[in-house]
Amino acid sequence: MKINPIVNNSDMNEAHRSVIVKLLQQKELCTRAEIAKLTGLTQASITKIVSSLIDMGIVLEVGSVKGEGNRRAIGLRLNSEENRVIGIKFSRWLIETGVFDISGKNYSRDSFEFDMNEDPAKVLSKLKSNIHEMLEKHKNIVAVGMAVPGPYLRQEGHIAIVTRMSKWHDVDFVKEFKDEFSRPFFIEQDANSGAMAEWWFGNHEKPMESLAYMLVGEGVGSGIVENEKLILGKLGTASEVGHMSIDVNGKRCECGNYGCLEMYCSAPVMLQRAKQEMPEIFSKKHEGRTREHEMIFEAARQGNKKALALLKEMARYISYGCVNLINAYNPDIIVIGDLMAKAGNLILEDIKNFTEERAIPELYEKTKIMISELEVDPTLYGAAAIATDRILRKPSEYLTKK
Ligand SMILES: [Zn+2]
Repeated sequence: MKINPIVNNSDMNEAHRSVIVKLLQQKELCTRAEIAKLTGLTQASITKIVSSLIDMGIVLEVGSVKGEGNRRAIGLRLNSEENRVIGIKFSRWLIETGVFDISGKNYSRDSFEFDMNEDPAKVLSKLKSNIHEMLEKHKNIVAVGMAVPGPYLRQEGHIAIVTRMSKWHDVDFVKEFKDEFSRPFFIEQDANSGAMAEWWFGNHEKPMESLAYMLVGEGVGSGIVENEKLILGKLGTASEVGHMSIDVNGKRCECGNYGCLEMYCSAPVMLQRAKQEMPEIFSKKHEGRTREHEMIFEAARQGNKKALALLKEMARYISYGCVNLINAYNPDIIVIGDLMAKAGNLILEDIKNFTEERAIPELYEKTKIMISELEVDPTLYGAAAIATDRILRKPSEYLTKK
């Protein structure tokens, strides 16, 4: 039997530092007395920890603010501008990057498309040089986070199977990026990243025990955060809702299973169907993949019956994913995001109605289902949130002033 070692003093200090930093991330401005009240830590240890955080350049003292009983007290806030992170969303044909700070503010965004049949080495080298450029431009980057399609095997550093992307199967992401930038580099599965972004930066009703993020884009996946932590499973691939079978007699999926959810309601499935059933809605000139999805949503908004029927069908399949998430994880909230979420109100009511038809009523009533309202794509935002979360859990390891 393995017994967890008793945490030593430095682990304890680190845990307390992390608690205070997370609190400041949520409250924006706090006094030492408020921190004591909210964390239960003693004034003496708060004084000590805060001064070490100030030394590390993570926390700033800002003037005096109205504190307990109207007494003036020194305000504390995160030194966000000086602690920035890069987020990267790696998807099947598009790589998006952004610079954020540890309070979640976005400073810049960029993207480039690539061809899945291109040599991965070429794409990786372009991405690396883009990151080097960003590091040159923004001097205060403390970490980089990247989101990749699932199921991502975090120990081995590669993606177990990315449908329609076989050339990438053997790419070892950890090996490629770990020592490339003299900054800590964290990799997480895309839907897990989206879940973290929604947990930290989504404007959701608190308290919240558990949040499920359902990514419906190039693929279908989900990430679950429970009490600030991702549910990962043994290899980090837990909650692969996209490869849950919704038709045991359906077509074989590349993953080995039959009739996987992803085969019925991903963005490429919708696009392929639309091109067959309503070619007239697409303009002749090539305007890029993102634009093509929008054309389908626009046609539906203008009342095109075929487009509306197709979206209704997509909503039905997405709802099967919701039913499975509700039954398997009983989340407070399911947030739907990525490409398909851009259909917004065209699909939301149908998703809710179809879910209600099949979910256990008592569970359905207690589960909120919504489309992501974040301004930045949750996966990209989440890649930054993952980097932020990891460094704030161990501030003295990652944020000590060089
Ligand atoms: Zn599958």
